[in-house]
Parts: sequence; structure tokens; C-alpha cells
Amino acid sequence: MAENTNIEWCDHTFNPWFGCTKVSPGCDHCYAEARMDTRLHRANWGPGQPRVRTQTWGDPKKWNKRHAAFFAEHGRRQRVFCASLADVFDNEVDPQWRADLFDLIAKTPNLDWLLLTKRIGNAKTMMADALHLQPEANRDGMIWPLPNVWIGATIVNQAEADRDIPKLLQVPAAKRFLSMEPLLGPVKLPRFCACGCNKPLEQAVDEAMDGPSALNEFQARASIKTTVGIDWVIVGGESGPGARPMHPDWARSLRDQCQAAGVPFLFKQHGEWAEVEGDYQLAPDDAEAEGYNPKTDCVITPDGRVFSNPADLPDDLLGRWMHRAGKKAAGRLLDGRTWDGFPT
Ligand code: SF4
Repeated sequence: MAENTNIEWCDHTFNPWFGCTKVSPGCDHCYAEARMDTRLHRANWGPGQPRVRTQTWGDPKKWNKRHAAFFAEHGRRQRVFCASLADVFDNEVDPQWRADLFDLIAKTPNLDWLLLTKRIGNAKTMMADALHLQPEANRDGMIWPLPNVWIGATIVNQAEADRDIPKLLQVPAAKRFLSMEPLLGPVKLPRFCACGCNKPLEQAVDEAMDGPSALNEFQARASIKTTVGIDWVIVGGESGPGARPMHPDWARSLRDQCQAAGVPFLFKQHGEWAEVEGDYQLAPDDAEAEGYNPKTDCVITPDGRVFSNPADLPDDLLGRWMHRAGKKAAGRLLDGRTWDGFPT
């Protein structure tokens, strides 16, 4: 069991600071803002607002000391999710704070640190800056990149996948992962050349066709082994007030893509909305479907359009019948079982 967090995929959470700015559709219902700004008034969200450094920097050192016992108990290294209420690679954070964080990470080698960001484009440069800001004495003994750092990118739709996964692959890290929560649309994971160059498949094909062997497209594609380049994928629907539904087929597709590519897949939750049991695909003339309640139900199309009344569906589209069951009732089973893949 996790020691101080309810998050399924980590053992601890540590927040080096609070405060952030919304940068993605995944931020629309930011839990951290609702808690730390609106409810507790401990930090203000938005550009130009000062970030607030926390007083809990001693905790990871205590966890690190106790790790030997944890290892005996759990048979694996403990995972720390860093910055659940902020973003490590936020442009508005004092760079020295980030340097201090990487110093702390270097001094807690018994813990794996999971740095999940919605600003993956900043990660490579800011990590290099964090190294350069270390005092000389620290830098000498540091192995870089730190071997206990996993870097994750939050990806909520195809546009973010296309934009951010190539950036994630450029960041030096022990493991690279995706947190696809809240998943807001179907995503096809892009493929990359598996030789280690990390070039997108289409670029690698073009270069093979233009190269000295003058391969045709069929030969070029056949000659390139591909990978998704990712060590772990976490998928989940949105929960909390105003939560948007996730079409369950989006999660199924990602599970299937991960299985085909040999990537561990963790299904975290359906979120606030559950699919109504049975293959309930509604068409516009199903507006009077027995039991359908527009106050608690909706239909979602495969491309993510949501209608509270099935009669509003476009003529040529079916919508999956979803019910606002609440996070607990909606649960985390997908096709009758849990999916708890982790990287080894
Ligand atoms: S990046 Fe995270 S903490 Fe920052 S606004 Fe978005 S959801 Fe909230």
C-alpha cells in the first residue's frame, strides 16, 4: 500500500512548491487549483503569481533512509510522484528551486522520482540548467542524468501526443512514461525508428527513400523497425466537478496498442462517467431509449463530441451511452479486470 497517497501508481507524493498556470485542456478542471487556491488560499494560480515553496523538503530524506525496510516489504523500489500540486518544469518557478530539487533527488538514491509535466518541451533545458546551478562540490559527485529520475508527459489528445511525445523522447531519463489522464480523445501512439535515433517513422521512411540505396516506399517501411519509445502508459478518465466523459473505447485502443508494442499499461480509472453495461450505442432516434435520463446520462461519439440528448447526435453517428455514476462506482475495471502494468 502507498504510504501517504491514494494515487495508484506511486508510494509517496512530494510537493516542492505550490502554484501553477493552466497550459492544456487537461488543466481545465485542475484539482490542485481547486484545492490550493480556491479552497485553502495557499497559492494563487496563473501567470505572474508567485509560486510558494513548501516546508516538507525533509520528508524524502526520511523515506530514503527507510527504503531498505520498504524494499524487504514490497520487493521493489519506492516511487515518489513529485509535484502533484504544481509542475516541476513551470517557467515561473525560480530556477534555483529546481536546482535544489535535483540536489535532493541526487541525495535520495533509494527512491525513484516520477516527474510528470505538462511542459515537457521545457524539461531537457531546465534539467541542464538545474545541473549548472549546482554548487561545484555537488556537481562533482553527481551522475547525470540522475539514474532515479523517470520523466512523464501528460497527454490528453492526439494533438498533444503528436507534439509532445517526440519531445519526451529527447529528455534523458531512466524511464519515460505517459499519463493520459484526463483522456479527452482517441490517441494513436506515434511510432519511431527503433535504432535509437528516435526519428518519427515518416521521417525515417523519407530519409531511407532519399538515401544511397534508393529504396522504394515499401522497401523503406519494411527495413525500419519501429517502437513507441515509451516505458509505461497510464490512462484514466476525469473525476471531480465538471468532469468530462472518456469514451471507453479510447482506453481499450491504448491498452491494445500498448500490448502490441510490449509497453506496460495501467488503467487508473473511468472517472466520473461509466459506460452503461451492454453495447449501448445510441442513434438520434434512440432519444426515448428506455431508462435514459438526460440529467444524469450523456452520449459520447468516437471523436469526443458529447450530447446530453441523443436526438442531437448527427445523423450518421452513434454515441456511446454513458452514466454519471461517480468515480467510485465507475471504478477501474476495463472489460472485467484491472490493468496494473508497471515498468520493471
Ligand atoms: S499543469 Fe497541473 S498543476 Fe498546473 S494548472 Fe495544469 S493541471 Fe494544474
